Formats: sequence, structure tokens, C-alpha cells
Amino acid sequence: MSPTIAIVGRPNVGKSTLFNRLIGSRRAIVGDEPGITRDRLYGVAHWLGRDLRIVDTGGIVPEDKEVIPAEIFRQAKVALAEADAIVMVVDGRSELAAPDMELSRLLLKTGKPLFLAVNKIDTLELEPMAESYRTLGIREVFPVSAEHSNGVAELLDEVIRVLPPPDDHELPATVETSASEAGQQVEAEYEPDAAELDLRETPSFEVKVAIIGRPNVGKSTLLNRLTGSARAIVSPIPGTTRDAVDELVRNEDRLYRFIDTAGIRRKGRTEQMAEKLSVVMARKHMEAADVTLLVIDGLEGVTALDANIAGYAHESGRSVIVVVNKWDLVVERARQLKQKEEKSATSARRAANTPRRAAAQDLRIVADQAAYERHVREQLKFLGYAPVVFVSAATGRHTEKLLPLIDEVARERRKRIATGEMNRFLKNVDFERAPVPFSKRVRILYMTQAAVAPPTFVLFTDRDVKLHFSYERYLENQIRRAFGFVGTPIRIKVRPRRGKL
Ligand code: GDP
Ligand code: GDP
Repeated sequence: MSPTIAIVGRPNVGKSTLFNRLIGSRRAIVGDEPGITRDRLYGVAHWLGRDLRIVDTGGIVPEDKEVIPAEIFRQAKVALAEADAIVMVVDGRSELAAPDMELSRLLLKTGKPLFLAVNKIDTLELEPMAESYRTLGIREVFPVSAEHSNGVAELLDEVIRVLPPPDDHELPATVETSASEAGQQVEAEYEPDAAELDLRETPSFEVKVAIIGRPNVGKSTLLNRLTGSARAIVSPIPGTTRDAVDELVRNEDRLYRFIDTAGIRRKGRTEQMAEKLSVVMARKHMEAADVTLLVIDGLEGVTALDANIAGYAHESGRSVIVVVNKWDLVVERARQLKQKEEKSATSARRAANTPRRAAAQDLRIVADQAAYERHVREQLKFLGYAPVVFVSAATGRHTEKLLPLIDEVARERRKRIATGEMNRFLKNVDFERAPVPFSKRVRILYMTQAAVAPPTFVLFTDRDVKLHFSYERYLENQIRRAFGFVGTPIRIKVRPRRGKL
């Protein structure tokens, strides 16, 4: 299915003219009378080798001025639900009106990639006028003239950047069929596409975040902190199920959607129930997320239940950030212990014999973050790619680091390495150093990144054997060293050069 772009805006701003311009035919009715009735119109535009489904949200039926805004919203909502990107059109020759503001607010709430086309800017001299429409809060503003086709190409160039890549989840057929051919040819087929779309820097616009962890580690406190401190809370928006409410947070030009905030705040009535609930919620919330914040109680360290939840996070293929919370308590505990120890060195030594105190003593040592991080990594070995941060949700200390980090991790997750670059990298990997028995070795003919989110690599090999664990591990480490991919798991698939997998 081609990605869908919805065109929305008040009557007479030039939506159908733009629509016609994009699809290159005359199927939509264009008229001056605001009373014209039409349903949503669909058409297909071709741009940079891709098919884009364009939806015109249509004209407005009622003459009654009072009813018009409501009707705009109704029309817009239907189109928005199915859109991958939204183009809001305003008339650059008329004043901004309240319905424009209301509409843009509604559109911003969707969290979808949003572009503002300031239309009827027919001449170059008029272009500066588009700037005044920035008050709508939409970051991407384009002066266009739908009638004269000015600025439309620039608009489409930007729209196409934010669309999901065409081969997001699947290896395109071209690779299947050319798997038996020389790597050079595949490379040639792949390269223009990736370069053309310049997907490497593609922002994903809205980052979906799940906050998971055991009961009482501070998930709700952290959520309140994150949604309360950001410069603007856009307000709760209903999620997919009736009791799930997502909260959208805006920070500068970025949007973060916290999944099922009602669920995060929900408490189990008994301890056992709370623990079960925390696992169920973690699994459910991750399904809808790009990035997972795995919250750990700093005072208690990594427990078995933490490791259990972390395991699900890893398997889900979502990106993970480990948040060690309540760091204020760790620091305070360390301080108290130090004081006590200074008072009586002997009693401290004796105290170390009882398990409870022994744990406390460990914490005195681990008030050092580097040492604590080693403890976390030791306990959660499979999350080697996850950044570890130390915060206090209660005091807010260092929580300001989280949104930018979420952003970075989300970008890494969607990063794409061009096949040419990948194979230059491959040439420099010294596979002799991989600790793999000789009989298990395979020759990698070439490799390509077939998908993002999570980044998935396909190796074309000379033999049809499963990749040895150490070999895969070694390759993953080399990929990370060369390209980063912080926070995200990566997947490696093997295809023998001849025959099907
Ligand atoms: P819609 O109701 O938003 O779909 O608007 P239409 O596409 O029907 O356009 C409304 C009016 O604006 C028509 O008279 C168009 O000819 C005119 N119009 C559309 N685009 C432009 C443009 O770029 N420049 C100028 N000057 N007029 C335009
Ligand atoms: P949840 O069950 O994971 O949502 O945990 P809550 O957010 O309800 O927090 C559990 C308890 O830990 C509450 O009493 C919080 O006030 C407390 N808490 C949460 N974060 C911190 C923190 O950073 N420092 C301190 N001292 N207490 C915290």
C-alpha cells in the first residue's frame, strides 16, 4: 500500500487545485462557490520513483458559517486517521482565522508529520508573506502556488522524506531475484534508491515511548516529570483501546507520545498483582512503542523481575534506554553510610556480615555511576546497546537528559546505511579475528540493510549454513563500531547466494 498524504484546510484555500496539481489530472472539481459538495477524493501522485496516495479532504457542504468549522474537523479527522503525512493548506492572501488555528492545533495533536502549504503565493515577491503563518505552530512552512505550480516540488521533496521507507519491513523483490547474481549488480540497484531518498537523516517526527518496569520503581513519577516539564503538553489523546490514553509532549520541534499513560499510573492492589501487572503492561506497551524506558530502582539494583522485563524489551525489537531512578536516595544512603563508618569502623565491619547491611555496603561503592553501570550491564548482558542514565524522577535531577536521548535513540533506530557504504565497511572487517572454528566459517559476499526499526541486515554468503553465534556477535560489534545504532537491537539474516532460504 502506498503511503497516504492528506490535504486539509478551509474552503477556497486551493486544496483541490493542489490536489489536481499533484495527481496531474482533472478529476477533482474546482470551483469558486463555497457551497460545492464533494466527498473525499483520492488520487495517485508519482514522485521520486514512488507512488503517493493523495486524499483531498473535500469541500464543505453547509453554507452556515457556524457549522463550517465542525464540518472541516469531521472531514479532516477521517482523512487524518489514514494519513502518513498531512499537508495543511491556507490562503496566503487572506488573514488567518480562528478555524485555521483550531485546525492546526488538531493536526499537531495527531503527531503525524505536518506541512503547511501557504497557497496563492503566485510571485516571488509574495513569498515573505508565508512567514506570518508560522504562528500556527507548524514548523515546515512552504510558500506555494498551486495554480502556477510554484513551490510544489519543494513541498513534495520534504514530504517524501518523512514517509516510511518503501522497503521498511521487507526486502524488496529486486534483491531476491538478484541474489544469485554478482553483488555489484545488487549494489547498483540499491544505491540510487537510498541515496535519492536520503533516509539516513529521516526524522520519525513522533517518537512513541513506553515506560516500563517493576512496581514502585518510579514510572509514574517519571512520567509526570517528563510530561509536566516539557515546554508544552499538547494534552491527552485517546489511544487505540478505550481505557488507554496516550500523552503527547512537545519539546522544541519534536513530539513524544507516551503510550497508555493511564496504564503507567495504574497500581495493582496487592504486591503480587502489581508485579504481574507490570509484566503484562510492559509487553503491551512495548508493542506500540519505538523506544522503551526501562526504569530500575537505584536503591535496589537490578532484580530478577527487572531482568525478566528487560528480556521482553530486548526480544520485542524495540529500542531501550535503561533509567536508573531514585539516584538521590543512592547518594543519600552512601553519605549516611560513610558517616556511620567514620564513627565506628569496627561496627561497620561487623555489620557487613549480615546480608542486609552487605547489600547496603555494595551500594556505598556503587554510588559511583561507572561502577553502577557495570553492575547493570553485568545483570542485563543482552542489553549491551542500551544507554544507561541516572536520574531522580522525584527531584527532577538529570531527567532533562531523557527527551534528547530518546530522540537520538529513535533516530539511530531508523538510520539506514547505503549498500555501497555497507560493502566498503565489509571489506575492512577482519573476519580472521572472529573466534569461530574454521569449519563453521562462511564467506560473506556482500551485505545490505534491508530494513530499519530495528535495523536489519542481510548477508549473502557462499554457503547455506546458520551463522555461528560468535561470528554474528563479532559482526554486530563491528557494525556498531562503524555505524553506532545506539539503543536499538540489530538483526542479522543470512541468505545463501544460491537457492531460497
Ligand atoms: P478548495 O476549496 O480549498 O479545494 O479550493 P479550490 O482548489 O477550489 O480553489 C479555490 C479558489 O482559489 C479557486 O478559484 C482557485 O482557482 C483559486 N486558487 C487555487 N490555487 C491558487 C493559486 O495558487 N493562486 C491563485 N491566485 N489562486 C488559486
Ligand atoms: P511506579 O509504581 O513505578 O509508577 O512508581 P511511582 O512513580 O508510584 O513511585 C513509587 C514511589 O517511589 C513513590 O513514593 C515515589 O514518590 C517514589 N519515587 C519515585 N521516584 C523517586 C526518586 O527519584 N527519588 C525518590 N526519593 N523517590 C522516588
